Amino acid sequence: MTSLEIRDLGVKFESREILSKLNLTIEAGAFAAILGPSGCGKTTLLRTIAGLITPAEGTIRFGKQLVSVSSLVLPPHKRNIGYVPQEGGLFPHLTVAENVGFALGKKISRDERQSIIESMLTLVGLSGFEKRLPQELSGGQQTRIALARALAMKPAMVLLDEPFAALDQALRAGISEEVVALLKSTNTTTVMVTHDREDALVSADVIALMRSGSVVQSGTPAEVYLKPISADVAESTGDVVTIPAVQSNEGRYFSVLHQSEGLPQDGSKGELLVRPEEIRVSAHSTASGVTATISRINYYGHDALLELEFAGMAKLIRARVAGPMNFEVGQTVFVEHQGPIRWVSGNATRE
Ligand code: ATP
Repeated sequence: MTSLEIRDLGVKFESREILSKLNLTIEAGAFAAILGPSGCGKTTLLRTIAGLITPAEGTIRFGKQLVSVSSLVLPPHKRNIGYVPQEGGLFPHLTVAENVGFALGKKISRDERQSIIESMLTLVGLSGFEKRLPQELSGGQQTRIALARALAMKPAMVLLDEPFAALDQALRAGISEEVVALLKSTNTTTVMVTHDREDALVSADVIALMRSGSVVQSGTPAEVYLKPISADVAESTGDVVTIPAVQSNEGRYFSVLHQSEGLPQDGSKGELLVRPEEIRVSAHSTASGVTATISRINYYGHDALLELEFAGMAKLIRARVAGPMNFEVGQTVFVEHQGPIRWVSGNATRE
């Protein structure tokens, strides 16, 4: 296992800047998830770490070893990396055993190769599958074989590009849990690219949030979820509502959630970022005394999302309520914000 340190990384395709001033540190043995919208450069970052793309600027270090600067690039096969591309990338004409043994090279004996293949297949729970071809496996089994191939040469780091994207929802949770547990049990430093915020929150020790070629925030799942640096970044890790607010000259915050008489004229305008589950909704009067009307209910079974209408504000606010649902559309309810104040200064009139 090794740590990864990326400083001021820049990657260009022709003259187009794809990654720019990207910084990221991952400790040895940690599981990192890279989360960001389509096209923001996640795969490009992974391929640059793997050595498949030469950066225009910046440095990449594995532990103390410098593997990438614009004038020196350690080739991919010398980086001791297990790379699992999107869809697994198994060779269709090779058997499972041949796929897993592919990266082991010719320097080891036949017996040694056999033994590594067997132990890798046992590790991913697929011993006995040696002679099968990839197309004779399910999507989840292919993912596990791709991982066995990546782990066979005992890499210092594993790079996973959306490993669970091809799996249906039912398979996904089980397989991703197994794969993450496997990588953590071998203490392999892992970087996983994903679109799926729940995969990232559940699996990762550290989440790096990307936008337009840069990492805009990184931290533990709880840090990035609870302390997002902007509304845009907050949306990467979960549902968020922005509520027009005013910070008074004395430093107090006012919004429809915090008092019912409208916003004060003095003070600076901004927004509060609130997670829907931080809005408590009650059929009975509460201390805060803020009332709202339910304009819509989306019922999900384990919880429900209520759309709330407040007097004097066109914008509807979503609240998530757990447990049995005793609300109905049109009902007047009492609302309280029970969560941290996340203040973003700026235009408070955004709808
Ligand atoms: P997705 O989540 O959709 O896979 P991504 O975040 O992984 O997207 P990348 O695949 O890294 O994004 O692509 C980032 C940008 O770089 C995109 O605009 C893409 O079109 C461009 N790009 C990727 N590879 C190349 C290439 N080989 N040549 C030119 N442009 C490329």
